[in-house]
Amino acid sequence: MKKVVAATGNKHKLEEFRAILSGWEVVSAADAGFFDDVEETGKTFAENAVIKARAVCRATGFPALADDSGLCVEALGGEPGIYSARYSGGDDAQNRALLLKNLQGKENRSAYFASAIALAFPDGTLLEAEGKTHGEILFSECGNNGFGYDSLFYSVDLKKSFGEATEEEKNSVSHRGRALRALEKLL
Ligand code: IMP
Repeated sequence: MKKVVAATGNKHKLEEFRAILSGWEVVSAADAGFFDDVEETGKTFAENAVIKARAVCRATGFPALADDSGLCVEALGGEPGIYSARYSGGDDAQNRALLLKNLQGKENRSAYFASAIALAFPDGTLLEAEGKTHGEILFSECGNNGFGYDSLFYSVDLKKSFGEATEEEKNSVSHRGRALRALEKLL
């Protein structure tokens, strides 16, 4: 089985990578001996994914897979976008609370999750793919599954929140699922 190092410390993302990339042995960056925090200095999801994939590939000598993703909310001009993980400066629950606060009184709840995936190979080859999934931001949390903004995201495809969806349901329509399947086609 081909080995790929996932350039993430996020256990949920790692599980999603493993579930979708069935033909690959996906190991975490820590398992490959990489413990550094890569600074996300890019201005787009794609730039950040490439920065992370290249850094982990260079350091470990294995093909490295990185996702940079986030939530883009129409009424907030696309925020939190690439700053989704650091939106409030606190944890996921604080990020969700800030999102609800910033959307108070706003009728337009349209949003999408975006994921940019980069796969960097030791010979310098780089493969890139992107995926999106559309929905609405709920007025309060719904469901305990997933992570990040999942419990506030009502999926147009699933007709329920990502917080209520099983892992399989979410992966079938999610931004990361779509990006990973697009990447698989390039391989
Ligand atoms: P990254 O790890 O730098 O790509 O940051 C991604 C951030 O976007 C996460 O910390 C979450 O806040 C949010 N995010 C990305 N994908 C998802 C998802 O599938 N569900 C919920 N939140 C997500």
